[in-house]
Amino acid sequence: MSNRRDFLKTSLLATSALALPRLSRAAASVSGTVAGGVGARVVSTWDFGVPANQAAWAVLGKGGKPLDAVETGVLIPEADLHNHSVGRAGYPDRDGKVTLDASIMDGDGRCGAVAALEHIGHPIKVARKVMEDTPHVLLVGDGALEFALQEGFTRENLLTPESEHAWREWLKQARYTPVANSENIDYHRSLQPLGMPGGKNNHDTIGMLAVDANGRLAGACTTSGMAWKMHGRVGDSPIIGAGLYVDNDVGGATSTGVGEEVIRNAGSFLVVELMRQGRSPQEACEEAVRRIVKKRPDGAKELQVGFLALRRDGECGAYAIQKGFTFAVCDIHKQDRLLASPSVYQTTYT
Ligand code: ASP
Repeated sequence: MSNRRDFLKTSLLATSALALPRLSRAAASVSGTVAGGVGARVVSTWDFGVPANQAAWAVLGKGGKPLDAVETGVLIPEADLHNHSVGRAGYPDRDGKVTLDASIMDGDGRCGAVAALEHIGHPIKVARKVMEDTPHVLLVGDGALEFALQEGFTRENLLTPESEHAWREWLKQARYTPVANSENIDYHRSLQPLGMPGGKNNHDTIGMLAVDANGRLAGACTTSGMAWKMHGRVGDSPIIGAGLYVDNDVGGATSTGVGEEVIRNAGSFLVVELMRQGRSPQEACEEAVRRIVKKRPDGAKELQVGFLALRRDGECGAYAIQKGFTFAVCDIHKQDRLLASPSVYQTTYT
């Protein structure tokens, strides 16, 4: 019975995914759970997860390692000059400096990360070098840059004319409101006078998780962080256990949204531990979001956090505070599926 229910659920999702116009949130079916048991799979956050997954799949689908797959996948948004929330062309901090955060983790527990890294367009590659070539987990700021240059990375100017223009607009009022993407149109409109970019992708992170046919996992998470943040601010993405956590015995989790809330709740570690205790990926994401909401006197109505989880059998789940969090799923059956996550608030908050 339960198998049939799962089958029906999967079929419905597959059907709606087939009908899904690429990058159209309005048409996306709202469902966090995608059943596992299909072998290798890659999942990642937001619309830009679709092309990133495809790049990861080119590695994983051929029997490559999950670690190589996730690194390859997130290079796509890191290199995308139209993407102002990940890698090159990311929006700067309030001083006009582009500082990037990234982490990578293998399901065997090895991990590496960089935070507040300037001048290097592919922080995920530096994070992997930290993991493989140093005895440390996290390098920050000038030390991370020094290490990257020693490793042969090229120093670049990451502030594009578009990002600089957006920053100069923001400077006119210079008010920082720590909010992140949701689908709430009025909400985005209300951000524009504050200099926050309105509409889609105002501030997002790519978190990617991959599992191979043997249940081995890896994850990567990379971002330019919250636009107009204080110089030196570090979000959840490079913090192992906050923005990313992976364990071959259980599964992996990653997050997006206001990083401070995720750090306070050790978000991704919490999701993995809840799965270890028997919760499904969907239930685990829901509980982690609920904890954040519960601690906020205002019910977290003004912020977005989303979690994405992948269990070692391939089942995945997602949940967010605000409507509008999308995630991409890629496996042997379909390589450009984009789904809308369920959320605490289903209607527009004004
Ligand atoms: N989590 C990221 C940060 O706080 C931002 C985001 O995902 O929107 O740096």
